[in-house]
Amino acid sequence: AIEKQIVTEQEMQRTIERLACEVLERMGDGNDLVLVGIQRRGVELADRLRGIMVAKTGTPFTMGKLDINLYRDDWTSRSGVPSINSTHLPVSIKDRNILLVDDVLFTGRTIRAALEAILDFGRPRSVRLLVLVDRGNRELPIQADFVGKKIQTGLDEQVDVRVREVDGQDKVVLLAP
Ligand code: 5GP
Ligand code: MG
Repeated sequence: AIEKQIVTEQEMQRTIERLACEVLERMGDGNDLVLVGIQRRGVELADRLRGIMVAKTGTPFTMGKLDINLYRDDWTSRSGVPSINSTHLPVSIKDRNILLVDDVLFTGRTIRAALEAILDFGRPRSVRLLVLVDRGNRELPIQADFVGKKIQTGLDEQVDVRVREVDGQDKVVLLAP
């Protein structure tokens, strides 16, 4: 596969910092924001964002997480239907403002499943979406409110998102077959 670095370590850290500032600007009033990370790298990203937001404001924003049971090795085979494995929401989400956090937005099916899981728990005031990478190719009318980087990808390409907490480094690489 051909590897092309699309976000360097320094760019990624600045992007996360910028996203944290945007979230504070648009959603940071009061205590009612709940950050909900989706499975592996979305959880680490949400945690990182939360750390920056807490440092800037002193507000102890709440974290939750969703596990999606579809761990696809090949992101280009879109046959599987993502469904929610488990949900950890530490507080009642009634009337809270939810920020869903994921590493990559592709067809939109994972977010659709995530919304269904969240709405099973109650009625939040609002749900917004933050993704580090929007790789295009949506199959559903789902868009992110906060986007780190938008790249148009082919269906046969793969975006490799590496985060310090899991992979020992921060960077984004595009893998072409
Ligand atoms: P979707 O459900 O929108 O098709 O895909 C989004 C979900 O699959 C996200 O949870 C994301 O982590 C994962 N995903 C989809 N495409 C890629 C990709 O190219 N790279 C990575 N790392 N994850 C992907
Ligand atoms: Mg993911």
